[in-house]
Amino acid sequence: MPRLLPIVQLGDPVLRARARDVDPSGLADPKMKELIDAMRETMREAPGVGLAAPQIGLGLRLAVIEDRPASVEGLDPETRASREREAVPFHVIVNPVLTVEDSARACFFEGCLSLAGYVAVVPRALAVRVDCLDETGAPRVIRARGWYARILQHEIDHLDGVVYVDRMETRTFMAGEDYARHWADADVEDVRRILEAERRPLVP
Ligand code: ZN
Repeated sequence: MPRLLPIVQLGDPVLRARARDVDPSGLADPKMKELIDAMRETMREAPGVGLAAPQIGLGLRLAVIEDRPASVEGLDPETRASREREAVPFHVIVNPVLTVEDSARACFFEGCLSLAGYVAVVPRALAVRVDCLDETGAPRVIRARGWYARILQHEIDHLDGVVYVDRMETRTFMAGEDYARHWADADVEDVRRILEAERRPLVP
């Protein structure tokens, strides 16, 4: 059983720095396999659908991603369809380069394990392409839409020192518990409209 790693929280400088490229020749090192195993278990335990190396205090351009069938099947069909959420098998992205393929905006609540307990509406591109290496150093091209595209954008942001609060609609930022209590069943467009309607000028 791989050890669980502590997840660093917003405020740790590693989350705000640009991570450095992974040297592909180092991927064969057994320590790298150990690291990836530990990141996978840490992500599952959290639980989360992605974990970037800076979130465990390592400034490396590497992330693990997995959206397990059990998480997806637990959603009601309407939510699942609107989010375009499908199960994604476990995989590793190394030195990823992201290209937006459909810049149409999808707006949904998301959270981050490094900002535990909070969520906000974050606009994300609907479809992306990611060129990266896998954990063996083999080149991979990923084409993703919907929720998977959101996960990729979120994790790759971490490698550039960007966190979702930089992109969120600030009026929708809230504690996860209150989201569950008041907003989880509402349509995201309605939530945005209601919260924006209460906006007041910040400087009188
Ligand atoms: Zn995150």
